[in-house]
Amino acid sequence: MYASIANVPPPVNEPVRAYLPGGSERATLEAELASQAGTVVEIPCVVGGKRIYTGRVREVTMPCEHGHILARVHLGGPAEVEGAVAAAESARHDWAMLPWEARAAIFLRAADQLTGPWRDRVNASTMLGQAKTVHQAEIDAACELIDFWRFNVAYYRQMMAEQPPAHTPGTWNRTDLRPLDGFVLAVSPFNFTSIALNLPTAPALVGNTVLWKPATTSALSCWYLFDMLESVGLPPGVINIVNGDGGDVGPLMYARPELGGVHFTGSTGVFQSMWHDIGTNIARYRAYPRIVGETGGKDFIVAHPSAEARSLAVAIVRGSFEYQGQKCSASSRVYVPRSLWPAVRAACAEMMAEMKQGDVRDFSNFVAAVIDQRAFRKHHSWLERLRAETEIVSGGHAHGETGWYVQPTLARVDDPHHDLLSTELFGPIAGVFVYEDADWAQTLRLVDTTSPYALTGAVFSNDRYAVEEALGVLRHAAGNVYINDKPTGAVVGQQPFGGGRSSGTNDKAGAPANLMRWVSPRSIKETFSPPTDWRYPFLGAR
Ligand code: NAD
Repeated sequence: MYASIANVPPPVNEPVRAYLPGGSERATLEAELASQAGTVVEIPCVVGGKRIYTGRVREVTMPCEHGHILARVHLGGPAEVEGAVAAAESARHDWAMLPWEARAAIFLRAADQLTGPWRDRVNASTMLGQAKTVHQAEIDAACELIDFWRFNVAYYRQMMAEQPPAHTPGTWNRTDLRPLDGFVLAVSPFNFTSIALNLPTAPALVGNTVLWKPATTSALSCWYLFDMLESVGLPPGVINIVNGDGGDVGPLMYARPELGGVHFTGSTGVFQSMWHDIGTNIARYRAYPRIVGETGGKDFIVAHPSAEARSLAVAIVRGSFEYQGQKCSASSRVYVPRSLWPAVRAACAEMMAEMKQGDVRDFSNFVAAVIDQRAFRKHHSWLERLRAETEIVSGGHAHGETGWYVQPTLARVDDPHHDLLSTELFGPIAGVFVYEDADWAQTLRLVDTTSPYALTGAVFSNDRYAVEEALGVLRHAAGNVYINDKPTGAVVGQQPFGGGRSSGTNDKAGAPANLMRWVSPRSIKETFSPPTDWRYPFLGAR
């Protein structure tokens, strides 16, 4: 036991390592890549700390070399869901009663482990399993995850310190940040290892127990990180893993009366179906479940005629094609004035011709493969359609013989309402609409109304009036907006991330706003000298 009001280590964003040719950072990572490529990992469900190998397996393959098996994921079913709910419920009391510093220490230790030997392991598994280049893996699985864990601890301390005023004589008011009255269901997407881990760990930090369903395609990196969390003292039952197809196991999970909350990141359609099912079950729950979801996007870049062509082109190619466009924040619709288009077109085409695409183990590649065959097939058929209907500035083809390779593609459309400018494709395909310079104001309204999403967006302009006008018209068109910068790459503690409209509940991952969703505050009033007479003074006779 101890009596203290502890300070926490001041969080600082984790520096991004360079992995330069010939350096030791690259050498140890390459050794780890080779070792993981030579291993097939069996990934169990984990219920109350017990590893369950169900025998119903799904293979995890390398997107860059799809014949290569990295892992076999053991899928859960009704028995595992039942066991996981029971384990989460039985761990709840002890976990919530631990001093908050003890819970925080587990995640601070985990962050520290990622600065050491675990960094190569999680980067290599993110590279091989999710087809991220070394830089994309480093900024996600290492840096952003470390930032989530360190900043969340500092935010939690700050939230607890925010107490009501205690200046009314004779009374004392306090706020108790209780965890939710039930388990939290965390359902994670394939595309960010950091998000996949933040979804279960943010609610756990503040005292909740969790049932976690990772995406099967990112199961390898998720598994290594769970293993690491256990190695730094995460107790059994606090986070329980049930692997499986969302459509099979999801409904079993949110049919449970003990459901206290849902922490989801993924596509808009899945989130809406979950919300619908939760609504159908609403009378069964012990308490109204908190529903937090960060979902799809159709993120824009809109350039004013005063914009600088080359930096705009860099933003288009980096923003649209890094990680094969599989970031929820990736730009996928671009609005360029006619006067700038020839220069922007030429610069984009030149840069895209230079970009190499291939296996992530060749560090000279800038783009790699899309996540799986389903994504590849979707993009393949979109490219067929775009070759017929649009002007292809660069790219336009896909090759799936060895890996799921879809060329970065920039396509210009004449119709500002073409599906290419409103549908989330989640791949390396971006649409361009060229507008008349005089139509700036009208174009801003077009940007605001063309898609149902509102996640990220960027405005390029050297005219301050134009920037302010865009920020006004597009106020609800993006939860994260950038001025003269690409719309990707939000940093924890600097640009809290999340969007509105069909893009999510905007509960800003990596910010106090998100952690507040996982607590249910209790107000405590204490009266030092309670009254002993029931009558109020106003009742007295004249
Ligand atoms: P997805 O919706 O296909 O899957 C996400 C998770 O939901 C997976 O674990 C999946 O198995 C599960 N799932 C699927 N159907 C389910 C159901 N009926 N019930 C319960 N769970 C179910 O998304 P994805 O392909 O993994 O990720 C890409 C999507 O995620 C894109 O739409 C992208 O924009 C979005 N995304 C958004 C953000 C953000 O912050 N807004 C961040 C990353 C990704």
